[in-house]
Amino acid sequence: MFESLSDRLSGVFDKLRGRGALSEDDVRGAMREVRVALLEADVALPVARDFVDQVTERAVGAEVIRSVTPGQMVVKIVNDALVEMLGAETAELHLDVNPPAVIMMVGLQGSGKTTTTAKLAKRLSERERKKVLMASLDVARPAAQEQLAVLGRQTNVDTLPIVPGQTPVQIAQRALQSAKLQAYDILLLDTAGRLHVDDQLMAEMKAVAAASNPVETLLVVDSLTGQDAVNVAKGFAGEVDLSGVILTRMDGDARGGAALSMRAVTGKPIKFAGTGEAIDALEAFHPSRVAGRILG
Ligand code: GDP
Repeated sequence: MFESLSDRLSGVFDKLRGRGALSEDDVRGAMREVRVALLEADVALPVARDFVDQVTERAVGAEVIRSVTPGQMVVKIVNDALVEMLGAETAELHLDVNPPAVIMMVGLQGSGKTTTTAKLAKRLSERERKKVLMASLDVARPAAQEQLAVLGRQTNVDTLPIVPGQTPVQIAQRALQSAKLQAYDILLLDTAGRLHVDDQLMAEMKAVAAASNPVETLLVVDSLTGQDAVNVAKGFAGEVDLSGVILTRMDGDARGGAALSMRAVTGKPIKFAGTGEAIDALEAFHPSRVAGRILG
């Protein structure tokens, strides 16, 4: 995870750390290299620019440059700014409502949405001992509903029985009713994905949201798509009330641009990271740990 960005940055900081004294020019030179490293990692241009400006402003102060270990202090400033960029604190799910708490999962086809729905369901049922029901509202993709049922059997999480011919809103209503009658704590709705953000997809999501009143609407996006992931998130955030983002395929993401830009560009927190194909490979997204990983 983040290997290429991490390598680039450690190259820059090794040079600084080795020095007993730093001039303002040294710091500015290093920050130019940091900017290039961030852009190569596919961080959004305005985000990279703001980051470097902020760090430079804090780091060229006399107390930093003239300190005993200026290089280390600059790295500490970069670390703190990275944590801020990633969202400062770990964002929790807010499920404190009259049950069932509805979580609506949205995203494009192929982002990992269905797998992530099952991963999250398993996590909530095993770790938090919640009674969880999953329902697939994807009537567009053949076998999508069956895919969730298979994952439900694998994870020991109940799925809503499939009734052919129903619309997504009808399935959402039936799921909500079942969840109420059978005293489920949490209902996870796996909505349909499409290849692109389009009006039909957005209209369907809004209708499902109106019918199910979700407390969490989580967007699943593929971190490997870098800036595209951030643009997709911007598109969704403009249409539905997103409460957070789940970044999948972080296990294969050497660059980290989506993770680093998401919060600043969309204002939405990353709540979880998918870190593998296995059904347990879902982690809470901890900004300080991620920054630590990037800086080695
Ligand atoms: P959907 O079309 O968005 O519902 O996507 P799926 O849930 O069917 O996932 C597509 C593929 O991505 C599957 O092969 C998943 O196993 C894989 N996948 C999902 N999340 C992750 C992840 O975090 N890491 C890796 N390596 N693979 C993932």
